[in-house]
Amino acid sequence: MSLSELLYELSPVFMQNFFCSLEGAKIYRRRFGENFFAVFDEIKDRDRLPREEMEKLKTARMRTQLVAAYENSEYYKNLFDRHAFDPYKFEDFETLQSLPLLKKEALQENLLAFLNRHVSPASYITLHTSGTTGAGLVFPESKRCENEKWAVWWRYRTNLGISLDTWCANFGGKVIVPVKQSKPPYHRIIKPFRQVSFSMYHLGPDTVGEYVKVINRKRLHWIHGFPSTLSYLASLMQEKNLVFDHPIRWVTIGAESLLPHQKKIIREVFGTDPRQHYGLSEPVANISECEHGSLHVDEDFAHVEFLPLENESGRYQIVGSSFANDALLFLRYCTNDIVTLPDKPEQCPCGRIGRVVRDIEGRKYDYIVQKDGSKIMILGHIFRDMVNIREVQVKQEKSGFVTFFVVPSERYTEEDEALLRHEIEMRFRIDYAIEYVDKIEKTERGKLRLVISELA
Ligand SMILES: [Zn+2]
Repeated sequence: MSLSELLYELSPVFMQNFFCSLEGAKIYRRRFGENFFAVFDEIKDRDRLPREEMEKLKTARMRTQLVAAYENSEYYKNLFDRHAFDPYKFEDFETLQSLPLLKKEALQENLLAFLNRHVSPASYITLHTSGTTGAGLVFPESKRCENEKWAVWWRYRTNLGISLDTWCANFGGKVIVPVKQSKPPYHRIIKPFRQVSFSMYHLGPDTVGEYVKVINRKRLHWIHGFPSTLSYLASLMQEKNLVFDHPIRWVTIGAESLLPHQKKIIREVFGTDPRQHYGLSEPVANISECEHGSLHVDEDFAHVEFLPLENESGRYQIVGSSFANDALLFLRYCTNDIVTLPDKPEQCPCGRIGRVVRDIEGRKYDYIVQKDGSKIMILGHIFRDMVNIREVQVKQEKSGFVTFFVVPSERYTEEDEALLRHEIEMRFRIDYAIEYVDKIEKTERGKLRLVISELA
């Protein structure tokens, strides 16, 4: 545990609220500083461009990125020369098909060769990401790109009627209330973001009443979180006959795919349909639900390809190329996330030309059962700083005990194991073992399942 984490854990609640707001203010200034509003202004109506203008914009943005990558990155210089690909004459997205797909492992192994040598460190931030496979990646993202990513996310929210001043009941994956704490409050206040941030790690049959009480007392109209957490909250409320005493106007979800039974119980208990968007740390694709309930590709943000899965009609992998990240180009980057598409392209009554996706199967996570019998989600993001882990799988055979199967890279050391143990112990009330293996069995669809539960 770092000194600042220890300090946080030992502080009284009001000090923790203060630290949250302080840290929040720092991130807020970076994310929503002056530049954000300029970018937001520029892009807020761009999802409504007519088809031809959109194509023009996309082509110009892609060309700029390809040229910059060719001139400033060793990997792309070699790649384009080898394929006789001329970035200066780029006109047609079809021609990208002659270039290979990019996998996260290739970036992980050889990140330096991909970087734009001439971008100054002051103009980017460092991002940490994980995915369904749990393999971590650390990469630079230009500040402009961060602004644009948040602007696209906020465009989706404002299209639904949420504004930047709306207070939010947020159920995120961050450890915001120390796991050892066993009495309320189970939330902290992050003022700059207008967020009441709830701990999903403390949610259970005995504590759910506290959560509802706080949402009622603070009259929060917007609830955001992982669908598995929100549907768990809804089912606990139903079980305990708890209700909100004011209407919930928006339920937004992210990071996981929304399953039909989750949608049903959220609608029943919260009284409103959950809205979703798909985005990831790597700025290669974004999909937003519009006010008519269609999932549209944000065509202006990145070039998104849907790669058909072998022997599976209607199911596609999302592959994306970034338009906005000057520090590092992602070109035909495999997300390993899956969508289903309608049989023929659909026109949405909202008038946006962004392609419509039927369903985002994306990332499906599962629960494990802790020592006290409470259920908790395992999320890929707990492994996000573990750049030396290739793959990981979590297996539960009995309640309260979990085995982590880890495929380490050559660079994996004892320090990585210590970090892994720290991340596990900070979040979960479980006994556990770590086992190192050469590979992890994939599902018949070739995907890696993060959690295998053999509990009834
Ligand atoms: Zn629409």
